[in-house]
Amino acid sequence: MSGKVQAVRGTQDMLGEAAERFHAVIAAFDRVRRLYGFQRVEVPVFEATSVFARTLGETTDVVSKEMYTFEDRGGDSITLRPEFTAGIARAYLTEGWQQYVPLKVTAWGPAFRYERPQKGRYRQFHQLDAEIIGAGEPASDVEIIGMAAQLLDELGVAERVELKLNTLGDPATRDAWRGALVEHFTRHKFDLSDESRKRLEKNPLRILDSKEHKDFPIVDSAPVVDDYLSAEAANFFSKVTAGLDAAGVKWTRDPRLVRGLDYYRHTAFEFVTEDLGAQSAVIAGGRYDGLIESMGGPHTPAIGWAGGIERLGMLTSAPAAATMDVALLPLGLAAEAAAMTIAAKLRRAGLACDMAYRGNMKKRMQKAAASGARYAVIIGDDELAKGEAALKDLGSGEQRHVAIEALAEAIAAR
Ligand code: ATP
Ligand code: MG
Repeated sequence: MSGKVQAVRGTQDMLGEAAERFHAVIAAFDRVRRLYGFQRVEVPVFEATSVFARTLGETTDVVSKEMYTFEDRGGDSITLRPEFTAGIARAYLTEGWQQYVPLKVTAWGPAFRYERPQKGRYRQFHQLDAEIIGAGEPASDVEIIGMAAQLLDELGVAERVELKLNTLGDPATRDAWRGALVEHFTRHKFDLSDESRKRLEKNPLRILDSKEHKDFPIVDSAPVVDDYLSAEAANFFSKVTAGLDAAGVKWTRDPRLVRGLDYYRHTAFEFVTEDLGAQSAVIAGGRYDGLIESMGGPHTPAIGWAGGIERLGMLTSAPAAATMDVALLPLGLAAEAAAMTIAAKLRRAGLACDMAYRGNMKKRMQKAAASGARYAVIIGDDELAKGEAALKDLGSGEQRHVAIEALAEAIAAR
């Protein structure tokens, strides 16, 4: 064997600030999901390929070109999850979670898509995910969108993110709108990008989602969903918007917003930013009343969203680095042995304690200061003989002798 090992393209390694920011997003999500009464759920990182292929729709980018699919040693086709919703819906059916409806759950973890890596776009990325399964009331749309808005608020990024909202209507609305879109795009067929021309055959709604400049004027002049909304769908949407207003959640209407996946109905939304270059969506979601039925289950209204942890992390400012309470500096063999006992006692007393066991006194002192510790505990053989240690306040520089037995109290009392 020769040659250096390398990370797989599109994967990330995180240390220090990047890792802190990543987990600050998850910690905020966990606080907020509790405030809204969402449970935690865990589902596998991989599923039978059919779980995603059938539900996401064969013509979506995710299924047609982004899935990590492989045959396992038993010859089964397996796919690494490109998103959470399908796996949670699968578990809802196979675990008998129907008994808990409405089921409000959250999850977070890695997701995998074979994409062209760039800033904010990776092949292994991480998502926050929230779902309400078995609730068809507009109040659940308001609740889950409100939760996303509060998360952005807690992360201190609400000012930099805008909520775009649309409705895709009920199946009747969608069919009528789709017909009008096909007619419109067919008229402009020869001016469309190749990609959009392909979508025209298979999934015309997705042309609205095109990122090709060539398509923009044709998309801008396309018919909007409002002209095809059934009375019922319009009524549903007005209850959602009224609820958001009542909850103090700001939104703007985007009549051309669609979701990339096929199973969406009614409410569709995205939280977008202008601060991440081409990657503008940080959280995206919608109502997917058709999904569980498409998996062979009963008709089950549901709504959910997913947010990119990395993209959210990039918007937040770095949290304060985790600091230590105490840096222990033993000098001499006897002191080093005693330091093991002292460190264990301090840690059991709930004090974060780091040990500087390398280099001369000056080096160790520098390291202690750099660790951000509030105190240095210096133990030399002389002090040890008296059962004492030197306690130095690294902020003020003040130093005094304290009985080793009393160290934890002396530090905690400050
Ligand atoms: P995009 O338009 O950026 O490709 P998408 O519509 O494919 O996004 P969703 O399937 O809605 O994204 O996923 C929800 C969220 O997950 C996105 O809003 C984004 O924050 C994040 N996300 C999606 N794909 C990636 C990726 N490859 N790398 C990092 N984050 C991602
Ligand atoms: Mg994508």
